[in-house]
Amino acid sequence: MAKYILSIDQGTTSSRAILYNKALQVIACQQQELPLNYPKPGWVEQDPEQIWQTVYHCIIAVLHQAGINASDVAGIGITNQRETTLLWHRATGKVLYPAIVWQDRRSSKQCQQLKDQGLDTLLQQKTGLLADPYFSATKLAWLLQHVAGAKQQAENAELCFGTVDSYLLWQLTGGKVHATDASNASRTLLFNIHSQCWDDELLKLFDIPATLLPEVKDNAGLFGLTDSKLFGAAIPVLSMIGDQQAALLGQACVSAGMSKSTYGTGCFAVVNTGENIISSQHKLLTTVAWRLNGNCTYALEGSIFMAGATVQWLRDKLGVIQQASETEALAEQSHYQQTELLIPAFTGLGTPYWQPEIKAALFGMTRDTGRAELAAAALCSVAYQSRDLLTAIAQDGITVDSLRVDGGMTANRWYLQALSDLTQTEITRCHTTDATALGAAFLAALQLGYFSCLNNIEQIWQAGWQFQPQLPAITADGLYRRWQRAVVALTTLDL
Ligand code: ADP
Repeated sequence: MAKYILSIDQGTTSSRAILYNKALQVIACQQQELPLNYPKPGWVEQDPEQIWQTVYHCIIAVLHQAGINASDVAGIGITNQRETTLLWHRATGKVLYPAIVWQDRRSSKQCQQLKDQGLDTLLQQKTGLLADPYFSATKLAWLLQHVAGAKQQAENAELCFGTVDSYLLWQLTGGKVHATDASNASRTLLFNIHSQCWDDELLKLFDIPATLLPEVKDNAGLFGLTDSKLFGAAIPVLSMIGDQQAALLGQACVSAGMSKSTYGTGCFAVVNTGENIISSQHKLLTTVAWRLNGNCTYALEGSIFMAGATVQWLRDKLGVIQQASETEALAEQSHYQQTELLIPAFTGLGTPYWQPEIKAALFGMTRDTGRAELAAAALCSVAYQSRDLLTAIAQDGITVDSLRVDGGMTANRWYLQALSDLTQTEITRCHTTDATALGAAFLAALQLGYFSCLNNIEQIWQAGWQFQPQLPAITADGLYRRWQRAVVALTTLDL
């Protein structure tokens, strides 16, 4: 009897395959790094073939590591970087262009035009999102306009659009299934979160032929069987869910009011709002958390584009560190009150500013400014942005006293204490850094009947490290006001 569950976590900086037993304990894990390409300022791309090949090789390697065959795997769960946009030929599976990554800003002009036409309200009402290049619709519109012949081929129903979940499902099923799930669809700016359908009016607005679109399914169910040529046996794909929604589930935030924040490449704070579609008055996003048996659970989300990616910038562009983990010891040599303040608007600013064109700035440098101050400024900038999100969430009527966190950056204890201090919030890191993969695996296990209901995830979730604010609130408030003043100064600069 097949007894393992395989979770595929296709992230922005790496692909992972994690094998779980029936009780959802990790048996084996494999990971491969994935490069990002920046062909022009503001453009961020990835090679689709590399996305697929890293996933494929991780699966092969994880089966080998555990000493099992594909026939021992009862089901696959997929979780993925969201919004990243791909376009491929239905007949051959060949992609027309590199994947346009969620951080890409090339369609900011089109988004500004939408805002100027006052269409933000319509978009928010229908999709829960805003006119920003972050989402898939304007990326797809750009592809149809700029790739030679794409528009015509799309109209002839020769092409498939997909986010990374759809693309992986297509590859895994040998080109048999073109589908997505409600959580990923809700990030495209084309999906009506009330009717749970692709929205004709929006398709018309973005000039996107409906023939391109994948079928939208519940987050758990039979999505398809893997092509047996790939792994030697046909494995059912039983769940698909966007990475932030998967982390919400993996963090056992299954009741309305519970919230988590994931610190990977970007940071995404998500609050479960149950059956309620809360329309934010403070520029948070409303999104589908998951849809099971046709019933939707919704969430409010705040999105920061540069979290761990700011640390990567220190490593890859400034060369002041060799490894992300070095920021911890460096930051310990400085303090929150240092004069240096980084606004990491390298790819614009997300919630609550939604300024795609703004650029990053480092304020307050002196002759003493060195690696330690840069490391502390980078880590604090993520904490301040988190406070922006928590403030917007509070203004929308939800108070977050305690935040569950996960993701690569949460290996850094200095950062987690800074997060607790500067946001004045209790921080709990969960027992696993793989809450995302766990969420997808749990949905597959639910589909297999290993668990009877969503609340069973509470039996698996365990608290790891905990952090309480140690900084007086009055000091934290003062530091936050300094951050707000710096952001205002930056957004009003016209360089
Ligand atoms: P993703 O799923 O978006 O690819 P991960 O959750 O794997 O991201 O986290 C990777 C990110 O975490 C990288 O951007 C890296 O810079 C950051 N990171 C990893 N370890 C640390 C650390 N010890 N301190 C600070 N940042 C870290």
